[in-house]
Amino acid sequence: MIETFRERYGETAAIRVFRAPGRVNLIGEHTDYNMGFVLPIALELACFVASADSPDGHLRVYSEEKHESREWPVADIARLRPSGDWSDYVIGVAQELIRANYRVAAKLLLIRSTVPEGSGLSSSAALEVSSALALLAGQKIEAVRLAQLCQGAEVRFVGLPVGIMDQYVSVMGRKNAALRIDCRSLESEAVELPQGIEIVAVNTMVKHALAQSAYKERTEECAAAADAIRRLEPAVQSLHDVSISLLEAAAPSMPNVIARRARHVVTENERVELFVKAARRTDVERMGQLLAESHTSLQHDYEVSCAELDFLVDTAAGMDGVLGARMTGGGFGGCTVNLLRAGLRERFQRVISEAYQERFGITPQVFDCRPSEGAGEVKNLERIPPGAALSQQT
Ligand code: ADP
Ligand code: MG
Repeated sequence: MIETFRERYGETAAIRVFRAPGRVNLIGEHTDYNMGFVLPIALELACFVASADSPDGHLRVYSEEKHESREWPVADIARLRPSGDWSDYVIGVAQELIRANYRVAAKLLLIRSTVPEGSGLSSSAALEVSSALALLAGQKIEAVRLAQLCQGAEVRFVGLPVGIMDQYVSVMGRKNAALRIDCRSLESEAVELPQGIEIVAVNTMVKHALAQSAYKERTEECAAAADAIRRLEPAVQSLHDVSISLLEAAAPSMPNVIARRARHVVTENERVELFVKAARRTDVERMGQLLAESHTSLQHDYEVSCAELDFLVDTAAGMDGVLGARMTGGGFGGCTVNLLRAGLRERFQRVISEAYQERFGITPQVFDCRPSEGAGEVKNLERIPPGAALSQQT
């Protein structure tokens, strides 16, 4: 990566490389923007940004995955408007940093990512957080603050009303654990996963056009549900504060579809808590059941699944040694997350790939989801994956 950097930008002063991981969410889907609970793990799949000072006052960015470069005079950054492409993630972050009084100097940046794009493993947060670290270039920042600024870039500049889960776990992921995050207090705790299991993501390789509009629609539906419940119980700030019994009492006062959206969120928050407890007593069967229940809720109450995700989940559920599976991420395509008994990964991959290929004519990617640590500067350059022919995708 250092060589590629020099080929592109010439001999420069010290080159530093920053890494920020993608993530897979085990359980707690569509709860983050409702101030609820989530349980993601940071992945080995990550975005790497190499950076050095720019000699001519321009910020230059090249993405190896996009094969595209962009540049701007650094003095213009604070005034730029979104251009509707990938560079918005970088500029959005730069603007948030400037607004928060960090110094953003002219830099040369080279982006290399192994997080598949648009697959629900959060290539966007990996790009935001690694870019932020490169632009900060060592300026001190508190971890939660860094996550908030990166989320702010996606909400205010890219224009997606995302919650804080992706950025939070990309910054703060733990090597051998999942992270239970309370998206209201922004506190988190590591949750160690039992021995004898493996987590595997399977990529449908599709992303239906509905994904973005439906995401916004769901955030509005959840806000409408919270408004309706507040008329009954004024202390309710978000669906975080709603119990199943309160929801049942309030349900007649709202349209059926709004009540079902709220039911997903309220029961999903409960499932996160149950999953954490099951993990702590190493009850892997219960963990698997909760994944299955989460999928059913996302499929029927929240209505963000699709034929490809349902097929992968149903196929996995019928296999020996699969404890549970569900869609993960926003939905309408992207990945499923699967909990397997250890040692079954190869067989699982073969069987599910053949079945999916036969049904949809597409070979799905399968990813190992070993928990990795959160973002930081890369000191051991051997960690950086080779460019172009990405070898970790199986
Ligand atoms: P997800 O976060 O689930 O992967 P998103 O739609 O939120 O999907 O983010 C994907 C977008 O992030 C891409 O369309 C692109 O604009 C940007 N992106 C991600 N990785 C890269 C990369 N390596 N280079 C340039 N842009 C990237
Ligand atoms: Mg994203």
